[in-house]
Amino acid sequence: MSKLDRRNFLKLSACSLVGITMGGISLRAVAEEQLKLDDPLAVAMKYVHKSTVDGATCGNCAHIKGDAAAEWRPCNIFPAKLVNNNGWCAAWMKMPG
Ligand code: SF4
Repeated sequence: MSKLDRRNFLKLSACSLVGITMGGISLRAVAEEQLKLDDPLAVAMKYVHKSTVDGATCGNCAHIKGDAAAEWRPCNIFPAKLVNNNGWCAAWMKMPG
């Protein structure tokens, strides 16, 4: 490998590494986006940030994931979004136990 080839190879490698790292950051950003009320799936599932159904919130739904103390948490029904712990949608199902 000539000096020039090696330099180009190293430049390309560095750029790829930056690209991969930035890709990871943007994927994480997407994964942590709060669910918007006008999201088509949220509308279809009648999702609200604050439940009006007695005793039923995202916080005690079988589909909720993540840290129980967090205000916004991942949900199996809305991939790559976070739902409000006090929210609700039509897919609510009592958490077992
Ligand atoms: Fe909340 Fe609906 Fe997800 Fe259950 S399925 S955690 S009620 S958004």
